[in-house]
Amino acid sequence: MKLELNTDIQYMKGVGPKLGQVFRKRGLNTVEDLLHFYPRAYEDRRAARSIASLEANQIVSLEAFVVGVRSIPLGNTRRKIYDIVVTDGTASISCKYFRTPYRGYFERFQTNQKVRVSGKVIFYKGRLEFHHPDLQVVGDQGVESNNKDELLPIYSDTTPIPPGKLKKLIQISISEALSDPKVDVLPLWIRDKYQLITQKEALRKIHNPEIDLAKAYFEFQSPAQKRLIFEELFWVELNMAKSRAGIKSEQAPAIVADKDFLGSIIKGLAFELTQAQRRVLDEVIADIEKTQPMHRLVQGDVGSGKTVVALLAAALMAKVGLQTALMAPTEILAEQHFKNASKLLVPLGIGVNLMTGSMKKKQAELELEKIQSGEVAVVIGTHALIEEKVAFKNLGLVIVDEQHRFGVEQRNKLKKGQHPHFLVMTATPIPRTLAMTVYGDLDVSTINEMPAGRMPIVTRKVFTSKKDKVYSFLEDQIQKGRQAYIVYPLVEESEKMDLKDAVSEFERLQQEFPKIKFGLLHGKMKPVEKDEVMQRFRDNEVQVLISTTVVEVGVDVPNANLMIIEHAERFGLSQLHQLRGRVGRGQHKSYCVLVLGFALSEVAKKRAEVIESTTDGFKIADADLELRGPGEFLGRKQSGLPGFKMANLVRDIELLKQAREAAFDLVDKDPQLEKPEHQALKSLFKEKSKELVG
Ligand code: ADP
Ligand code: MG
Repeated sequence: MKLELNTDIQYMKGVGPKLGQVFRKRGLNTVEDLLHFYPRAYEDRRAARSIASLEANQIVSLEAFVVGVRSIPLGNTRRKIYDIVVTDGTASISCKYFRTPYRGYFERFQTNQKVRVSGKVIFYKGRLEFHHPDLQVVGDQGVESNNKDELLPIYSDTTPIPPGKLKKLIQISISEALSDPKVDVLPLWIRDKYQLITQKEALRKIHNPEIDLAKAYFEFQSPAQKRLIFEELFWVELNMAKSRAGIKSEQAPAIVADKDFLGSIIKGLAFELTQAQRRVLDEVIADIEKTQPMHRLVQGDVGSGKTVVALLAAALMAKVGLQTALMAPTEILAEQHFKNASKLLVPLGIGVNLMTGSMKKKQAELELEKIQSGEVAVVIGTHALIEEKVAFKNLGLVIVDEQHRFGVEQRNKLKKGQHPHFLVMTATPIPRTLAMTVYGDLDVSTINEMPAGRMPIVTRKVFTSKKDKVYSFLEDQIQKGRQAYIVYPLVEESEKMDLKDAVSEFERLQQEFPKIKFGLLHGKMKPVEKDEVMQRFRDNEVQVLISTTVVEVGVDVPNANLMIIEHAERFGLSQLHQLRGRVGRGQHKSYCVLVLGFALSEVAKKRAEVIESTTDGFKIADADLELRGPGEFLGRKQSGLPGFKMANLVRDIELLKQAREAAFDLVDKDPQLEKPEHQALKSLFKEKSKELVG
């Protein structure tokens, strides 16, 4: 049978239904999928050398014999370090695994077995060792022994498919299916401009790397890798370019901003706007004065004062009779915005109302009527605003706060079939690279300055054993009239992870410190209960708020100056940064204490160090992206970010820029992709954009 790209793998020679099923489970259905199952690494066989001659930081692959397998308990936890010692006669070396998903893996290795170890040589506590190397048994069902000088593609583990078999099937696919003459999807002008080889050639080479280019392959700089990475990024950027072109072709209500009116509101504020706030406000005003819809992201660190900028834009809209919808991710936050907006706008005669899911039906109906009649100009709410029954008379501006919590779909629904101006605010500073892809169809404004007079936040990490000190510091601050947050990672006691949860700690602390007034806030409470606690905290009737991460976003109580984060090792970087951002909002020196458990993972340690060393949200976001990878950074579903096969937004920034330029160029030249040289691209793009949206 002649293999085609869409031939089912199970019909390939030597596969059959059973093995076909195994392939399917890994998302490999067709010959084409096999071609795109890229090696996860390459191994330079020339680097194989004797253990005695190893040097720190080399990436090597060598064959050796197992001399011992042992496990070392880690403190008094159930976790263990696995240590497999191997020798090649010249010396021996440890292969260590600190946290492992499954134990059985190590039980496969036995003394005297021949293995191939691939990984980086680490200098650790005075010795050379491997940490988490790739370890495979040589011979039988394992890898073939190989001492040729070649660059070897290494594929992800596809157990129970033997690595040898997988390689063979890929090579057969290359020689049979790729021989099909096929138009390259990228038009010649793009390939020429960015010096890209054809896809066919790239696929051939990605699986048959040239040893002369070993260094380039390791750095993802070989022509084959560049071509495939470029293409992955290109589809995303083309989607952005199309979406942006679509938005910009719509008609939005252009307004004439009343500058005198604006000036008088600004004068009435309790503070001076920062330069950055003024600049961003100007950018927003320039946008809403155009007939093309504004499509802008305002990013600014926690506490940089994004809200007031958005509310000022809403005021300008109201002045010309247009409505604004402001959507926040939580009820607490929506309420807070409602209070701020009311304070600012109601005295100006601008109607403001609140729409949340927990509202009584009667009242909701009343509010809905006011929205529909245009009586209220500014509507603030949670995702309840998305519901169809919320109908506006003339929506001019949509503002979404803390964008990363909402998906693109929700964003669009909020536009209510109209073409309002659109503003997104995010307090998760997004590294430039990621902003380009995820928000690639948005213009970006950055508030890169904090209001004057803010005291820097002092951040310290302490181990649980030093908690007494933390509590006496807490008492001290409360005595001085300050307030504090204590945040826990879980709502309820879980037997698996013996974390003290917010509820039981609340009870315990109340008994231990009867003079302090504690409050409790968690996600399982009713909205009214949450509101009540928040209100009491704002009024300083509650001095210490014990909470789960519901306080993470946006909550603003300037008198609170101490943030204690329990089990800080359980939180992600941006979460820690957000939590810390709850303090340092007033005139008082503020503190953030990261309470750490023992047995920290490397990543958790690194996170704590990053948080301790900087309060700059952009630096933290960069570190976060590096530690977690772009897929997890925003949450794949919500960000509309595809899981890249090879591209890496940190590493491939140059290619990203090129792909973006090419995509925007293309849409500029041929908006509907009608030219003959763009036909192949057009049909594939249709398929790809389905993946991107879905
Ligand atoms: P975020 O950007 O995190 O959403 P907010 O808009 O909640 O920040 O603002 C944080 C606090 O700073 C609020 O209490 C707000 O009133 C105050 N604020 C905003 N701009 C300024 C400014 N220019 N000077 C002083 N305080 C400001
Ligand atoms: Mg905010």
